Amino acid sequence: MIFAYDTEVALVSAAALINTAEATPDSLSTLAELDVFVQEQQFSGSRTHDEAELRAVRRMRGQLRAIWTAGEDEAAELVNQLLAQAKALPQLVKHDQWDWHLHATTPAAPLALRMGTEAAMGLVDVIRSKELERLRICAADDCEAVLIDLSKNRSRRYCDTGNCGNRANVAAYRRRKAGSAA
Ligand SMILES: [Zn+2]
Ligand SMILES: [Zn+2]
Repeated sequence: MIFAYDTEVALVSAAALINTAEATPDSLSTLAELDVFVQEQQFSGSRTHDEAELRAVRRMRGQLRAIWTAGEDEAAELVNQLLAQAKALPQLVKHDQWDWHLHATTPAAPLALRMGTEAAMGLVDVIRSKELERLRICAADDCEAVLIDLSKNRSRRYCDTGNCGNRANVAAYRRRKAGSAA
């Protein structure tokens, strides 16, 4: 494991949130889609189930993407803004099937703020351990999805939103074949 377990969960979840904007069509367009996302990512806490909540989450998605592609100083600044915006107060908590981990917002804080804060807390670890290089954009030519490389040898290049890795392997195979035939 590169980071603490809850940090890795938070980072994977942040990448999944950002990548909902890369799906065609956008996979976070309706409240029903938001419900599915919240359930899949196991976000606990309060919900308002309205358009304002959806809009706020979609805005947060953009804020997180900006951090993903920022340089170190800018990323630190943006993470601090998120934490300040949520008046983050880190607390160790234990709930459901989860052992001790950090929450920095209360369950009553709005969903978008809880999502942003959880991501920000994960990004704190990434930045202070000088691992920002692990936040990447998919290497496939036609894909702008983000990924978090949690591999030991920093070898991950493709997102997991579709089959970018497979497509790249097939293309490389075709190029090799074409080369050997020539
Ligand atoms: Zn929790
Ligand atoms: Zn991709």
